[in-house]
Amino acid sequence: MADKITVGYTHLSGCTGCTVALADNYAGLLTLLDKYVDLKYMPTLADARHIQKVDVSFVEGSVCINDKLAVEEIKETREKSAVVVALGGCACYGNITRFSRGGQQNQPGHEAYLPIGDLIKVDVFIPGCAPTPQLIRNVAVMAYLLLKGTKEQKDLATAFLKPLMAAAAEGNSACFCDLMTKVINQGLCMGCGSCAAACPVNAITMEYGKPQGERDLCIKCGACYHQCPRSWFSFDVVSNYEAINEAIMAALQ
Ligand code: SF4
Ligand code: SF4
Repeated sequence: MADKITVGYTHLSGCTGCTVALADNYAGLLTLLDKYVDLKYMPTLADARHIQKVDVSFVEGSVCINDKLAVEEIKETREKSAVVVALGGCACYGNITRFSRGGQQNQPGHEAYLPIGDLIKVDVFIPGCAPTPQLIRNVAVMAYLLLKGTKEQKDLATAFLKPLMAAAAEGNSACFCDLMTKVINQGLCMGCGSCAAACPVNAITMEYGKPQGERDLCIKCGACYHQCPRSWFSFDVVSNYEAINEAIMAALQ
């Protein structure tokens, strides 16, 4: 037990899809809980629900600023966690909660749901709606190896987590121009359409298999950039892919 990392899970405004994705790890989740993670609190999978001092907190959902309790919860999570991970699109950039507008243009009242990075410092982003079960599992394993592993494991964990930490550092300052300059113009776009689906104001359309942005409509929310699977492209991860994969698989044996 002493070698495990302590983990908490704060659940704010969202659809609970990230919790479902976490649970979809089945045996992998049981291995994590058995060997690496001491789950200190979580509304659905642990008895304790009050926020406690932990190594890593996963936060699902955005913050409703009209809900005083939610604002206090996210601040308490930050105060009591060494590392805060924004899990899923709602925590990272508002996502589905920004869609709660009935297709209207933005109005001040619509800012009621904020991504957690607008209120606290976030250390790691796990974008996606919902993120894949494997990605959540891999981040948990890599967090363990970073904190408790050998020098070689720490180096691999650093390489793996770096793009997700860079995304958190960038936060919601990203806009369509970032997608254009860092993904599309670099030849990394694979035409999946995730960016267009993520845009809350329909500023992106897919034309001939490539995203076209209407910059006048862009509210610079960062959703398209962080939802794009190619925005996390990292030579560190690609060049260490086999070693990273082996480290994760060995940990889950
Ligand atoms: S185009 Fe602008 S408004 Fe649309 S998702 Fe990207 S950053 Fe947000
Ligand atoms: S999400 Fe990324 S890879 Fe997919 S279409 Fe948009 S820019 Fe291209």
